[in-house]
Amino acid sequence: MNGNKIRLSKSSISQKEKQAVSEVLTKEFLGMGEEVMLFENKIQKYLQTDMQVVCVSSGTSALHLSMSALDIGYGDEVLVPSLTYVASYQAISATGAVPISCEINPDTLFLDTDDARKKITKNTKAIMPVHYASSSKGMDEVYMLADEFGLRVIEDAAQAFGSERNSEKIGTKGDIICFSFDGIKNITSGEGGAVLSNDDKLIQRVQDSRLLGVEKDTEKRFSGYRSWDFDVKYQGYRYHMSNIMASIGAVQIDRLEEFKIKRQSIAKKYINSLKNIDEIVFLDIDFDEVLPHIFVIKTQRRDSLRKYLISNDIECGVHYKPNHLLTKYKTDFVLETTEKIYSEILTLPCHFDLSADEQDYVIDKIEEFFRA
Ligand SMILES: *Cc1c(COP(=O)(O)O)cnc(C)c1O
Repeated sequence: MNGNKIRLSKSSISQKEKQAVSEVLTKEFLGMGEEVMLFENKIQKYLQTDMQVVCVSSGTSALHLSMSALDIGYGDEVLVPSLTYVASYQAISATGAVPISCEINPDTLFLDTDDARKKITKNTKAIMPVHYASSSKGMDEVYMLADEFGLRVIEDAAQAFGSERNSEKIGTKGDIICFSFDGIKNITSGEGGAVLSNDDKLIQRVQDSRLLGVEKDTEKRFSGYRSWDFDVKYQGYRYHMSNIMASIGAVQIDRLEEFKIKRQSIAKKYINSLKNIDEIVFLDIDFDEVLPHIFVIKTQRRDSLRKYLISNDIECGVHYKPNHLLTKYKTDFVLETTEKIYSEILTLPCHFDLSADEQDYVIDKIEEFFRA
């Protein structure tokens, strides 16, 4: 497969995940049951938090269910940075609400709260800061703005599981935090996600609505039963997590410290090795705290560097095409900073199985490019 191509990102699956899946298959209870409860408990224990954890089918469904549980819908607006995965936008528009594209800080690529403030209207219900490249420097300002205007905060922390801010793990404080466990995120459950919050009412709604709105079905499923005589009061979705997925995630949490050390050292090595190249600018991210899902650099010669790396069998990425440039999310707002940054960003290979030799090769090729 792929010859010598260096992958941008990939899952890392050991014998332990295979064993765990095999055990679930042997039990022949594949849907949502005990394994999901155990995974939720394990997340809570890893984070050492009282926040309640609800596991769902993806990061996107975590975001969608959170807003749906807040009754965000038609006529409402949600502030969100344009520079994010289209999942953030689709989750907002799935509720009927309109995503309002905001600018980013050019150094961190995190939401620019001054710009967000200008875009608040009487219809604004929530703000969705995105933990870009797993970092969330600037989150305190988001909460200050939200307090001032009575907005709910839905953190798109899809990339930030295992990251810290001010020495506190992401997911241990805040209003609503959504993680993703898709195949290439910091940990994976195959596909999956989670909603964390201290808001009991919201958590109850999210628990019910992941199972088609069937009231209190979660408790039954966790003990191996299901509801036959039930009521439904709200729109629900088929967004629960399966036992198979949960069993993979539970093993990955045990491997997270190892993942963290490796990904942080990859980021630090890129910085150390490339810091003398004037034409490369790094993001303002502290890799002692942040567990990087992606490693992003900025350079004016992005397109030619990208071509050069690809021609040398090195995969690279552009995270992301700004959403306000997509037909569905066109806007009258001008987002100058976002569009400029979009022309400069390049994502370099960063994943647990990237070998030292492979990273050396990537670094060599980048040096070679800028020497020429
Ligand atoms: C991955 C990701 C999502 C979506 O998560 P899925 O589990 O893939 O649905 C949302 N937002 C951001 C910023 C992401 O990186």
